[in-house]
Amino acid sequence: MRILVLSDLHSNRTALDAALAATKDRWDRVVCLGDVVGYGPDPNETTGKLRELGAQCIRGNHDKAACGLMPTEDFNPVARIAADWTHSQLTPENLAYLRDLPQGPLETDGLVLVHGALFDEDEYVFTPAQALENLLDSAGHVTFFGHTHHQGGFSFLDSELEVLSLRPRPKEAFAALRLEAPRRYLLNPGSIGQPRDADSRAGFAIADLDHHVVEFWRVAYDIAAVQARMRAAGLPEPLVQRLAVGR
Ligand code: ZN
Repeated sequence: MRILVLSDLHSNRTALDAALAATKDRWDRVVCLGDVVGYGPDPNETTGKLRELGAQCIRGNHDKAACGLMPTEDFNPVARIAADWTHSQLTPENLAYLRDLPQGPLETDGLVLVHGALFDEDEYVFTPAQALENLLDSAGHVTFFGHTHHQGGFSFLDSELEVLSLRPRPKEAFAALRLEAPRRYLLNPGSIGQPRDADSRAGFAIADLDHHVVEFWRVAYDIAAVQARMRAAGLPEPLVQRLAVGR
């Protein structure tokens, strides 16, 4: 079973389409770690595509904000403008889909899925100390998390935590991680729709637990086309510009 692991799509249908086209016939099913919408110009197209793929998806903070499950007051001003715009655009069907997304952690086919952290879906996991808590408490050997938009991860064995550098180089499509049986892993596939780790390409992963491999992918997409749609929709300029730099 090869599982396509998506996260932080952020209403970027062009980036999602590029990821799907690059990995055609390379996976059997799709899971998603949340933040389907928010920031980007294509909330209905992105939600619709995820539904069409039959993805098993948990909710992210932007999904909650877009469908009124969470107040947007805590968001920074540009995120709030985008969340309110997203809410105004979503069809009733897509709003209902997002509202009904389950909260992580979710266990599926040997993976544990969370949006932020194991016990707080809105927490950002950046530091080894935070990672360690999640690694020790997770019910699975392989836990995927999103929310930070940074591709990478951590592994743990015999009280030692290792920070994993997993990003494919500029001309490579993916970097493969070989899983070692006793080790525990906390892995971030990166963000499809708004990468923030200095690589503007869409980030995601393919997990093949049967063969003990996780591939970390980066795929280039037409950023200018997405930026043009964002400007046409009147979305804040800082959100438009950050796509090109991946920050
Ligand atoms: Zn996000």
